[in-house]
Amino acid sequence: MWTCPNCGRIFQKVKQPHSCKKVSVDSHFKNKDKAKELFNFLLSLIEKNIGTCKVISLPCCVHLFGVYDFLAALPKRDGIEIRFALDRQL
Ligand SMILES: [Zn+2]
Repeated sequence: MWTCPNCGRIFQKVKQPHSCKKVSVDSHFKNKDKAKELFNFLLSLIEKNIGTCKVISLPCCVHLFGVYDFLAALPKRDGIEIRFALDRQL
């Protein structure tokens, strides 16, 4: 694992090419109250039932990082789109 000294993101490969651009979590949810409510609910359920994770805000979306990067949340006007992968059944 490698942590970029500039932006703090964690990668499997040392010096993984990426954008160090930082975007606040709140900026993703600007004027998307329903999406923020859903995201906070989802995050609380994941942390309660699966384990704590780190919220990483990327220019494109919001990622959740546990042992590895496992979920991307894309806020929409009336909801959120989530994309996730696990190595086991929930
Ligand atoms: Zn970086």
